[in-house]
Amino acid sequence: MKKIVFVTGTRADFSKIKSLMLKVEQSQDFELFVFVTGMHLSHIFGFTSTEIDKYHFKNIFKYINFDKYFQMDKALASTIDGFSKFIAELDPDLIVVHGDRIEPLAAAIVGSLNNILVAHIEGGELSGTIDDSLRHSISKLAHIHLVNDERAKKRLMQLGEDEESIFIIGSPDLEILNSNELSLKAAKEHYEINFKNYAIAMFHPVTTELNTIKEQSENFVLALKESGKNYIVIYPNNDLGFEFILESYKSLEGLENFRIFPSLRFEYFITLLKNADFIIGNSSCILKEALYLQIPRILVGSRQNKRAGSEDCMRVDSKKEEILKAISKVHKMDFKQVSTPQILNSSQMFFTYLQSGKFFAINKQKAFKDILVKE
Ligand code: UDP
Repeated sequence: MKKIVFVTGTRADFSKIKSLMLKVEQSQDFELFVFVTGMHLSHIFGFTSTEIDKYHFKNIFKYINFDKYFQMDKALASTIDGFSKFIAELDPDLIVVHGDRIEPLAAAIVGSLNNILVAHIEGGELSGTIDDSLRHSISKLAHIHLVNDERAKKRLMQLGEDEESIFIIGSPDLEILNSNELSLKAAKEHYEINFKNYAIAMFHPVTTELNTIKEQSENFVLALKESGKNYIVIYPNNDLGFEFILESYKSLEGLENFRIFPSLRFEYFITLLKNADFIIGNSSCILKEALYLQIPRILVGSRQNKRAGSEDCMRVDSKKEEILKAISKVHKMDFKQVSTPQILNSSQMFFTYLQSGKFFAINKQKAFKDILVKE
């Protein structure tokens, strides 16, 4: 039986890979191992590993990769160390990572240096921040690419990746989005949300803007307060500068039109998002789930500058007056025609490729496809 390790470091990647993990877990041909690390094991960020526990995976390993400062480079080093020890004993056949954070980068480094196949989900995307550097680095280490669409595929080829190693499977969270049947009543009850109307606010730090994050998050919070609307506010991730955002959220505590959470369970989050008046901030979810669901969306600041779909949002700088103006107009937002993704069976596509043996036939010796050389 082939051993497959999935690495998860945040709520963001778990929501996108869990349908794939479940396929592997249920199969007779493969054995699933889940390596849980990063924000999942931090109480500050909602200790979301409890969400993973609910799936009762047989083989689950938890590794704390941070200290109290959440320094990203040190967490990278720690994850390399922990994951290296983990796979040394396990000797897996395939490592599956997702996205653009230090945990998948660590796992891709460990896999490639130990001659173990690495599959990377959602490479070839652009956002416009440090995430791009991390994502492209992971792509350069991974042997197999499971991408969203043709554009992502082309960008990977631009990075010198072999077309044969790139498989378009769509964005795996969208299939959950479609099948999620949790009612709004259940979601509101679960999180004790009493508002009739509300918006969702999610603001993350941009690491290269460290010296203005305090000011940006204060502007964001002041604008939300002055708008007089009801908000479900969700904590940022643990990227450099997150403390400034958490500090400014302190002034929202106890206000009756705000409910603040470190993290919501994915299905509950989706139900609340589907029924929100709008979403505001700089989460990738604005360009993914909210775009797909056609929820009015205000993108604040530069974090998603380059992501596809950003042109179909209201976009403002992190300035109080600009944000307030956008909030006052958001209900009139004029939606352009968004081409909805066609692929809504990503997990089955992934599993079919897995079973076909195609992944295991891929050469672990990568070859750079040089545009200067005609083949
Ligand atoms: N998400 C979730 N619960 C939450 C907030 C987010 O399940 O409370 C999921 C959701 O799928 C969202 C994804 O995490 O699309 C990414 O959101 P986040 O803003 O945390 O990260 P980003 O991708 O912007 O770095």
